[in-house]
Amino acid sequence: MGALPASAKIIIIGGGIIGCSTAYHLGKLGITDCLLLERKKLTSGTTFHAAGLVGQLRSSANITQLLGYSVALYDRLEQETGQAAGWKRNGGLRLACNDERWTEVKRQATTAHSFGLEMDLLSPEEARDLWPLMTVDDVVGAAFLPSDGQANPSDITLALAKGARQAGVTLVDDMAVTRIVLDDAGRLSGVETPEGFVACEKVVCCAGQWSRTLAATVGVSVPLVSVQHQYMVTEPIDGVARDLPTLRDPDRLTYYKEEVGGLVMGGYEPNPLPWAVEGIPADFHYSLLDSDFDHFEQLMELALGRVPALCSAGTRPKASSISCSK
Ligand SMILES: Cc1cc2nc3c(=O)[nH]c(=O)nc-3n(C[C@H](O)[C@H](O)[C@H](O)COP(=O)(O)OP(=O)(O)OC[C@H]3O[C@@H](n4cnc5c(N)ncnc54)[C@H](O)[C@@H]3O)c2cc1C
Repeated sequence: MGALPASAKIIIIGGGIIGCSTAYHLGKLGITDCLLLERKKLTSGTTFHAAGLVGQLRSSANITQLLGYSVALYDRLEQETGQAAGWKRNGGLRLACNDERWTEVKRQATTAHSFGLEMDLLSPEEARDLWPLMTVDDVVGAAFLPSDGQANPSDITLALAKGARQAGVTLVDDMAVTRIVLDDAGRLSGVETPEGFVACEKVVCCAGQWSRTLAATVGVSVPLVSVQHQYMVTEPIDGVARDLPTLRDPDRLTYYKEEVGGLVMGGYEPNPLPWAVEGIPADFHYSLLDSDFDHFEQLMELALGRVPALCSAGTRPKASSISCSK
């Protein structure tokens, strides 16, 4: 825990990747009279257990350009801050399994090329050459972005935090904002913490899934609710190389990345389960939800059709075997 100043020009609430990135970039702009307050430890909210895929291709050209900036930042962050960022540029594959998706991918390629992002269109066989464990019977084509990659989200966040501190920004953990304080005219005057009031001109709310409840205390509606998300991590699998590209398979709702010679596989169910709709439990930090295999099964079925080797792979941390029916 660091010392709490009496005032700051800008207070950033939350020390996940968004809060630490905000602190880093304000510091780089020379706006150093900033204070980041984190209720527990940096990264202990959602960030520490993100899978860590960094893909640039999105349906919005602006977001793709922003993600291109992230890749350029991650390329230099470790050298700049001296903090390992776990970043590797192993490339990213995105599959298209029907004509509509293939048309979308080709359009995205045109947009990507227009602002200089390298993106190659591949045949199913060329895609399989890059990702030998997958079946491609249903694949129409694939996009490959050589500059995509994967990172350790906690390490990236700690590197951003270090860069922010090096620039002169103050980051304090174990310090919750208990209230955003308005003056009689309804203007922001500061925030309250267990160690007292800190005056400020601006608040940047980077409280992730806590934002809705916090913002509601000052009459701001943040339309955000958490949904449960699961991924599995396997033991090492023969044929998974350390430089295996990340793989996104949107028509099978799943994604993959290499981890310690095995695979991380996660996905997005069409029937996601909302979580903590009435508010996040008070002590939720560095916390994981219980596994829900029944809900995950639908993704597992889709993944086994793409990567049959998952059928006999052991899973971590319990090293149990995944059961599958054919
Ligand atoms: C299983 C999983 C896999 C994912 N995989 C990927 C992926 O591969 N690629 C990708 O890009 N994204 C992925 N994500 C999404 C990514 O994790 C989130 O988008 C990102 O971590 C959100 O960061 P954040 O800073 O907004 O939130 P958080 O990390 O949750 O940070 C918010 C912080 O605010 C703090 N806070 C809350 N209230 C207060 C308060 N009153 N006072 C002070 N501090 C407060 C919290 O303690 C917390 O640390 C994944 C997410 C999950 C759950």
